[in-house]
Amino acid sequence: MAIDIEKIRQDFPILKKEIYGKHLVYLDNAATTQKPRCVVDTIVNGYYDCNANIHRGVHFLSQQATEAHESARKTVQQFIHAQHAHEIIFTRGTTEAINLVAHSFGISQCNDGDEIIISQMEHHSNIVPWQLLQQIRNIRLRVLPFDKKGVLQIDQLENLINEKTKLIAIAHVSNTLGSINPVKQIVQIAHSHNIPVLVDGAQSTPHTPIDVQDLDVDFFAFSGHKIYGPTGIGVLYGKEKWLEAIPPYQGGGEMIQKVSFEKTTFNELPFKFEAGTPDYIGSTALATALNYVSEIGIDNIAHYEHELLQYATNKLSQIEGIRFIGESEHKSGLISFLVGNIHPYDMGTILDKLGIAVRTGHHCAEPVMKAFDIEGTVRASFALYNTTEEIDILAAGIERVAKMFRR
Ligand code: PLP
Repeated sequence: MAIDIEKIRQDFPILKKEIYGKHLVYLDNAATTQKPRCVVDTIVNGYYDCNANIHRGVHFLSQQATEAHESARKTVQQFIHAQHAHEIIFTRGTTEAINLVAHSFGISQCNDGDEIIISQMEHHSNIVPWQLLQQIRNIRLRVLPFDKKGVLQIDQLENLINEKTKLIAIAHVSNTLGSINPVKQIVQIAHSHNIPVLVDGAQSTPHTPIDVQDLDVDFFAFSGHKIYGPTGIGVLYGKEKWLEAIPPYQGGGEMIQKVSFEKTTFNELPFKFEAGTPDYIGSTALATALNYVSEIGIDNIAHYEHELLQYATNKLSQIEGIRFIGESEHKSGLISFLVGNIHPYDMGTILDKLGIAVRTGHHCAEPVMKAFDIEGTVRASFALYNTTEEIDILAAGIERVAKMFRR
């Protein structure tokens, strides 16, 4: 089914905005996506019409809000094809989900001298939580490298694995290079050594179908705001056996069964990991976003965004002096680039004056910058509402900046 792009764009009021008198061309979707009207309506209606703290109330509104929150959990379960709804833990986002695993898995499953494998293309949020764990357990981080094109060197994975390896934590899609990593293959290799795998799905979930059972991942994290949902809500999926095996991350209300000053017993899954009042409005709006995506069809979105990527790659490669950072054959819809010696901030700032929103800098992936010996890149990242016309505007904008600097 083809995507009805005009109809979709109508759903996102912000796309009509003008910036410095120019039509907004929003190409910063890897950082966060814009929100369709239905998601914003869910938030507004939630507060106006269905707001009461969940789980503990006997009154009507509390039960209605509880029902909405728990139904959102089921929507997430179906969206990523988890076996059980209680394997879905609501978090603030990918970052909090990874921190949860680093802490709870780390302190319960790792001893001094144990090893965790990550990759060279991780976002800081899949590096720093493991370094924080190092303050509690003296673990060693091993790093799987990528090659010149930004392709993970999977053939080196076996060399990094040994009897001390406790977990492999890896991005599904790099937010900087766009590379799609072969997580299914990584999981197969890891499981053949009885090592669990955490997948950072922040950049894959919005763009490609996710089936956690088919991938056979042990943990999977994603953020609501990158998939047309609200900020401040995200998901940690964990296989039941792992969520049962690891201790709570935070203490407080909701996550307990019984509390006394002598001893506390913990609640069952998923509540054991959801201390405090959850973002029940956010979870409900996330469910609206996921339903919105499902209605259009995530396969259709993947197909459309792939066409955009091909169009953009062809178009931009005609620009004199352009250099792409990340040239994997298996790429998601984003392009990181540099033109000649133009500093990414200069490029980004001038593009902004033309109404074009791109991201510049290290994209929270400093080790990737180090590997290419650069300070940063310009990154254009696509979503389902972008068009080839917008890519033409981007290309013309880059040409204009390049000309200014050639003079
Ligand atoms: N992982 C990847 C690959 C990302 O791109 C990002 C955000 O850009 C994150 C993790 C962190 O996501 P959040 O800030 O929503 O927690």
